[in-house]
Amino acid sequence: MRYIEPHGHMVSRTTDDYQDMATAGCQVVCEPAFWAGFDRGSAAGFHDYFRQLTDQEPKRAARYGISHYTWICLNPKESEDTQLAEEVLKIIPEFLDKPTVLGVGEIGLNKNSRNEILVLEKHVDLAAKHNQLVLVHTPHLEDKLKGTRLILDIIKNERRLTPNRVIIDHVEEHTIKMVLDKGFWAGMTLYPESKCTSARAIDMIEVFGGERLWMNSACDWGHSVPLAVPRTALEMRKRGYTADVIDKMIYRNPVAFMSQSPKFKLPIDPL
Ligand SMILES: [Zn+2]
Repeated sequence: MRYIEPHGHMVSRTTDDYQDMATAGCQVVCEPAFWAGFDRGSAAGFHDYFRQLTDQEPKRAARYGISHYTWICLNPKESEDTQLAEEVLKIIPEFLDKPTVLGVGEIGLNKNSRNEILVLEKHVDLAAKHNQLVLVHTPHLEDKLKGTRLILDIIKNERRLTPNRVIIDHVEEHTIKMVLDKGFWAGMTLYPESKCTSARAIDMIEVFGGERLWMNSACDWGHSVPLAVPRTALEMRKRGYTADVIDKMIYRNPVAFMSQSPKFKLPIDPL
């Protein structure tokens, strides 16, 4: 099996996790910028985090034969302090030119607040101005449907961004259709409890087909499973899917989306 982990917060994981992922066939991991479990107090804190994502983590992943790419932004959870957000937005462009940065992400909404919407619009403008791919986080539970609608409207209004260069992540049964119908890519997040289980993800593949769709573990410091993608591949096999269809879902689809960035390269001689 070969696969790509398109959404993993590896700075919060151990070297054992890298080893397990490499053993299961992971060739590439992509790490969107996110919340650290607590609100950072200064733009300098974000600057250090972006350095960790662009300098340190690729080296750590390389020790296990895994290529590491990243996405830069201010997480929606940290949008309420608009003055700090302004300062962080100013330092983002210096990182967009780094060789392993694929785009702006994971931007989006968390509680659908006015300040979150303001900061989302600024990120969308930044991505359009710098011709970046975009990775979008959608809210949880009761805020997901409304938040997804708001996000899609904001991005659709930005004519410089084309939907096929934007992935809307953490879709569920009630949001996947509107995302795909509008021409965006959709990401299904395989969590042990919330978001989406393996069985629900495979059901969605059966209902909506396997185009413009990927799966990720979104593993972070919370309750999450770094091997969720290969485990779901095994579940697909049990349901009778061919190796070719599984390979498309866990490898060729993420490659197709991320290859829209000229920086994205597959490992030359993967294990
Ligand atoms: Zn995430």
